[in-house]
Amino acid sequence: MSDLSALPLPSTADLAHLRRIVAEWRHDGLRIGFVPTMGALHDGHLSLIARAKEKADRVVASIFVNPTQFAPGEDFDAYPRTMDADAAKLAHAGCDLLYAPVASDMYPDGFSATLTVGGPSQGLETDFRPHFFNGVAIVVAKLFNRVQPDIAVFGEKDYQQLLVIRHMVRDLDLPIEIIPGETLRERDGLALSSRNAYLSTDERRVAASLNEILAAFAHDLSTGIDWETAQGKALAKAANAFERVDYIEARCAETLAPLPPGPVHQPARVLAAVWLDKTRLIDNMPAV
Ligand code: AMP
Repeated sequence: MSDLSALPLPSTADLAHLRRIVAEWRHDGLRIGFVPTMGALHDGHLSLIARAKEKADRVVASIFVNPTQFAPGEDFDAYPRTMDADAAKLAHAGCDLLYAPVASDMYPDGFSATLTVGGPSQGLETDFRPHFFNGVAIVVAKLFNRVQPDIAVFGEKDYQQLLVIRHMVRDLDLPIEIIPGETLRERDGLALSSRNAYLSTDERRVAASLNEILAAFAHDLSTGIDWETAQGKALAKAANAFERVDYIEARCAETLAPLPPGPVHQPARVLAAVWLDKTRLIDNMPAV
């Protein structure tokens, strides 16, 4: 763990300290924005900081690799941890405070609360990572209670997560506005992701085709063909390019409910998760 006091922006792991700083801001009538992350920051994360700065007077970013959203055998231990570089990027982006709690503080011995989220969490990621959204929900609910922001920014890169958090905030009456941030991409279309660091040069080249396949899927839907036919084409291409395809689907953009059969006459979203060796890539985009 880095020495947080040596980082180039105000940083704390201590909840009481966090609360003192935020209370002072609130006392001064300032609006507080929040961007939760797992670190290994890239320009996509920094674009969320910029978005939060547009909407709030002070911005808190958190870095916490949340154990409850990883299943045994997933990449929790391997997940990149780059605190010093992350802090430099946050400072440069104008973030006002880095909150980096430790796991034993977030989940003390005997921690037993759970949150079960339904609605938009059904299907897609949940079919392959059934633990995932309940783990995300508990950590985000805790971080919201700790930071008590007015607004929080979540990336459309994790579109299902964005809708799950929106739904949770509504269901639990949390007084926080959830703001979406657009997906930042490499020049070849690959969505920026902390996990792209796992890709070999060859895999990196193949990875860009996910964006192309989704764009063609979205375009096909806009021509009025049945979503089943469009999905079949997208699946065939993805199965050809990637070692494994968890899903490639079109869903209702607002709720992520399955679409009625046939041509699509409502705002939709195409979403996919595929594998290159041990790296899982997810991406999505609007359609219709
Ligand atoms: P993570 O650190 O992967 O948990 O992501 C933290 C936040 O950054 C989430 O709200 C993500 O949706 C968002 N994010 C991840 N990748 C991107 C990207 N390429 N563009 C914009 N936001 C992103």
